Amino acid sequence: MAIFFFIFGLFWGSFLNNVAYRLKTGESFFLTRSHCPICKKTLSVKELIPLISFLIQKGRCLGCQSKISLRYPLTEILTAIFTFTLALIFKPWINFFFLIEFLFYFFLFSVIFILALYDFDTLLVDDRFLLFLFFLGLIFVFYHTYLKIPYPDFSYLLNYLFILPPYLETLFSSIFLSFLFFFIYLITKGEGLGFGDVKTVFVIGLFLKFGDALIFLVFSSLLGSLYGLILFLKEKNLKKPIPFIPFFFLGLYFTLVLGKTFSAKYLNLISF
Ligand SMILES: [Zn+2]
Repeated sequence: MAIFFFIFGLFWGSFLNNVAYRLKTGESFFLTRSHCPICKKTLSVKELIPLISFLIQKGRCLGCQSKISLRYPLTEILTAIFTFTLALIFKPWINFFFLIEFLFYFFLFSVIFILALYDFDTLLVDDRFLLFLFFLGLIFVFYHTYLKIPYPDFSYLLNYLFILPPYLETLFSSIFLSFLFFFIYLITKGEGLGFGDVKTVFVIGLFLKFGDALIFLVFSSLLGSLYGLILFLKEKNLKKPIPFIPFFFLGLYFTLVLGKTFSAKYLNLISF
């Protein structure tokens, strides 16, 4: 069943990459067909099959033979991987409630993925997409609080340490993460970290219980700093800003996957 989500993810990834590309170029999201950026040839249906078209055409445009960026197959595979992982974690085919949780995180990951690509290209963040996540996050908090449904819990052990009232369980993560990043933003005077990153961690926090938010913080800052260090060793330039949203995306992914593994191990430990 989950393999179906992998294949769907390939198509969805092609769409997400397209949205990020049009965000950068300022083209309309819906009205125009995709075309080759070099020769402007409109792509036919058989040139639009994710991954397969790229492999059949050996990575070249059918119109002008120019090389197609590796970014296309890479974004398709990455999206397929996170869609597949979310399907494995939430098992949306089992019942309606599992489907709802799956959709919340699926849209969170999709939008953060678009913002990560956009940040990587431009070092900017798009407020319309953040606003969408902010409202989705509020619905997420309201849904769990009002219907008394427990929040998804990825690191059982760590979340157990923080008992908060239901409406605060993820709101508190948002406030904690954004204050921390705002503090870093202030002391570094906006170099290396932008205000867009502060807003982004706020909306991500809305979807994470506090223990999970701590794991997210550790993963994304470790990966981001590692990247910054490599960049520094290569270019000897400390002032070069780092696109942080790609690391938020990776941090979020590792939090869900590793948290899930840890909590499963922990549950095995106490049941035997
Ligand atoms: Zn072309």
